Amino acid sequence: MSRRKIVAGNWKMNLEAQAAGQLADDIIANAEKEKVSDDVELILIPPFPYLDFVGSKLKGVNIRYGAQDCSAHEEGAFTGEVSATMICSIGAKFILVGHSERRKYFNESAELLIEKMNKVLATIGTPIFCCGESIEDRKSNNHFSVVESQISDVVLELKKSDAEKIIIAYEPVWAIGTGETASPEQAQEMHAFIRDLIEKKFGKVLAKNLPILYGGSVNEKNAADLFKQDDVDGGLVGGASLKAASFIAIAKSF
Ligand code: PEP
Repeated sequence: MSRRKIVAGNWKMNLEAQAAGQLADDIIANAEKEKVSDDVELILIPPFPYLDFVGSKLKGVNIRYGAQDCSAHEEGAFTGEVSATMICSIGAKFILVGHSERRKYFNESAELLIEKMNKVLATIGTPIFCCGESIEDRKSNNHFSVVESQISDVVLELKKSDAEKIIIAYEPVWAIGTGETASPEQAQEMHAFIRDLIEKKFGKVLAKNLPILYGGSVNEKNAADLFKQDDVDGGLVGGASLKAASFIAIAKSF
């Protein structure tokens, strides 16, 4: 059986409202014009203020949407926070958890990420759990042990019935927004390693079905070679997701 193929666009903290609406419109038009296969799941991940209006543009279109983060709390006096329940209640079905920018700039710890994962999993939403090593970890040959800790501290703590609902994104920090991409071999090697960790804990079937996306300077030129790898099931795309034509070209790279 073949796994899901997924291309998700993380818009990060970019675009004013008018430009965000235009980008969503252009992606919808391009996906139709370029006849992106129904086998490929497209996910748009805009900033919070645009979630609802981007979502309203996607009604009746085979593209889904999600949020870049959620609160570790359920509800109440947490000014500025947005809960997983709120996000899912407007129809957004995916939530990034543990993006390296949140780990780095907001000091998100494994304990916090477990809370967030559990909040998303208590809804009908799907967490996209991000992991990946820094350049120092890679240079000192610690990349496998760093990613192993990130996975075991959070994902391997989940119940099996929850683990089967998640998506993992391997995003080497040195490749995010730098224009430097992991080679297809480096991506494959790490994806196979992650799948093996999942299999040891949750068994063959769950591991075999788990989508593992690659993220880090994916573009229309390198996507095909990355997506050809056995254990690479698609991409989490930052910069190139802000250009409709590039994002759709990536979606057509399977
Ligand atoms: C990301 O933010 O998840 C990402 C992979 O960004 P970029 O594609 O710009 O490297």
